[in-house]
Formats: sequence, structure tokens, C-alpha cells
Amino acid sequence: KTRVGVLALQGDVREHERLLSRLGADPVRVRRPSELAAVDALVIPGGESSVIDKLSRTFGMREPIRAAIRDGMPMLGTCAGLIMLADEVVDAIDGQQSFGGLDAVVRRNAFGRQVDSFEAELRTPTLPGGPVRAAFIRGPVIESVGARASVLAALDDGRIVGIEQGALIGLSFHPEISGEARFHERMLQAL
Ligand code: GLN
Repeated sequence: KTRVGVLALQGDVREHERLLSRLGADPVRVRRPSELAAVDALVIPGGESSVIDKLSRTFGMREPIRAAIRDGMPMLGTCAGLIMLADEVVDAIDGQQSFGGLDAVVRRNAFGRQVDSFEAELRTPTLPGGPVRAAFIRGPVIESVGARASVLAALDDGRIVGIEQGALIGLSFHPEISGEARFHERMLQAL
């Protein structure tokens, strides 16, 4: 079985674990460097990116995760997880840092407040299996995509909400909440 880590510092860890089990993978909670060293891929969940950032530094996880990204470990970040994987974050909280890895500029809370959560059908031309219905919960938008990354998902109005680069995938929305498994599958295909 493929051991897939879920960064379990804060956020919707359980939903990702459920989806990964459904795909036949072995989900493993990752909080310390030794746990990261024991997995083949990593999911960074939705939650609050500034908190995930702070805790990752407290737990000594920032540098090991950055090293794993450089080494090509497949990773999927959803919502706050996308923010953590973006090279540049707009509207970050004071001193907030990301791990980086995705050549893109991401704006936090771009769709308004918690009450402005919504669902939408996405354009995902490179994803097999038809349209994706996505849940947005105070998610970020991908404002610009650099030459090294490519668009994976967009809203009808053209706003970019999913990108990939090498073995990294970042999504503004929550496939783990709607039970949409194709992005996790895509991450596992990078193994
Ligand atoms: N607003 C959160 C942040 O900035 C992301 C929300 C989410 O992950 N659902 O990290």
C-alpha cells in the first residue's frame, strides 16, 4: 500500500484520510520530520494557512517539507494547503510564510468571508472523467501562474482555482469535502 501523509497540524485532516482510504492508499498523519520521512506523498489540508505556517515552524516541519518539495515528493494542497505551496501569497497575515513550490501568486480569502462559501462547476480540460463540482470555503484565488506551472481548474469566469507543477497540485477548493477523488488520484499517479 502507498503510504500517503496528511499534514496534521491543523485543518480538515480526517476528510482527506477518508478519501485516501477509499483510493486504497494508507493515510498517515504527519506532525514530525520522522513521520514525513516515512511517507511517499503528502496532502496539505484546508484550514487556516497562517496557523499551519506557525505550527510547521514550531514542530520543525518547515525545512523538511521544503526539502521534500525540492526532492520531488508528490503533494496535494487544498485551500490553505494551496496557499502553503504557493511561491507568493497576497494578503498574507503579518510574517506569514509559505513553503513554496508552485510558481504562482495566490490571494488569500479572495472570495470573501465564510458566509460567502459556494459551490461551482469547474472547467478542468486536462482532467479525465467529466466536470468537477467544487466547494469553496473562504478559499484563495490563483492570481497569476508562472511559466513553470500550468492551470488545472478554472471557474466559468476564467478565475484560476487549480494548478500543477511537476509532482505538486494546488487547489482553491475542497475535493475532500465533496468526495471528488480525481485530484488525489492524480497526485498518486506522480509516484
Ligand atoms: N482562509 C484560509 C486561509 O487563508 C483558507 C480556508 C480554507 O482552507 N478553507 O488559510
